[in-house]
Amino acid sequence: MSEKLNIGWIGLGNMGTPMVKNLVKAGFDVTVYNRSADKSAALRKEVNIKIAPSPAALLATSDVIFTMLSDDHAVKQVYEGENNVFSEKPGKELTMVDMSTVSPETTLYLAGLCAEKGISYLDAPVAGSVKPAEEAQLVIMVGGDEQVYAKVKPAFDVLGKMSVYLGENGKANVAKLSVNLMLGVVAQGLAEAVIFARKNGLTAEQLLPLINASAVGGGLTRMKTENIINNDYKPAFALKLLEKDIRLATENGMDTPVGQSLYTTLQAANAKGHGDEDMISVLKYLSGE
Ligand code: NAP
Repeated sequence: MSEKLNIGWIGLGNMGTPMVKNLVKAGFDVTVYNRSADKSAALRKEVNIKIAPSPAALLATSDVIFTMLSDDHAVKQVYEGENNVFSEKPGKELTMVDMSTVSPETTLYLAGLCAEKGISYLDAPVAGSVKPAEEAQLVIMVGGDEQVYAKVKPAFDVLGKMSVYLGENGKANVAKLSVNLMLGVVAQGLAEAVIFARKNGLTAEQLLPLINASAVGGGLTRMKTENIINNDYKPAFALKLLEKDIRLATENGMDTPVGQSLYTTLQAANAKGHGDEDMISVLKYLSGE
């Protein structure tokens, strides 16, 4: 691989867009594909990127192709749908890096398909939401071949504050699902504390600064304080994506009581129409709104 990687990027959602901006700012040559072409066009007005008309069109020039997509189905589409990444021959030695939150099974399946074609594959999901993505403060978990990780690390260094190599393919997915199990539990706990306080005559404005200053306060409680106070549920991390992650954890053996209760709550909140709101709308759902 060349010293400065030529990057292909698939997925310009809430996370992918700021991540691409950081790669371009750091001097990487980035070519993007997004299913909805308007997002690629809008980004090109802001930063110097090239646009590919399909996943396949990224093959000729890329050293590494990153995917940052909603879920297992979306990632599989890129590999098995129309004009997929196997429709063309790679122009050079190629690594695929999936930064989406998907199941370890999907990673092993796609890594297997890549291996048959001589393509390397890393699972590299991230902890951190839109703001950490914008500020290049993501925590990146990596599974796959360690030498391949070393080659892609310069790009990880631009996207996050740390990247950690965890072992073979799938291990990073397990780490990410573990982190998000805890994330969901903390979010529901925060929501329940606010509901209890309100029921007894305290406002969120009174309670949240206390939580943030106490031992139970942390990154998530601080990040969501303004949203709760301002009743702002615009998605940084959509509730339906958290529900997807807890479903994946459940499918991989998560059977502990708080996690199971969380999954029930998220399924019901999603069914009630909160799926496209931020995950902290679990508060709205549990408040009966
Ligand atoms: P998002 O804003 O919903 O963006 C999803 C992206 O996937 C869009 O580019 C979308 O394309 C594309 N997509 C969806 N279905 C597709 C399909 N069938 N074929 C091709 N492309 C498809 O999601 P996000 O918040 O950026 O999250 C991306 C991933 O990172 C998810 O796995 C999520 O769990 C994980 N994650 C998110 C956060 C967060 O705070 N948001 C934090 C850590 C990890 P269109 O533009 O055409 O819809």
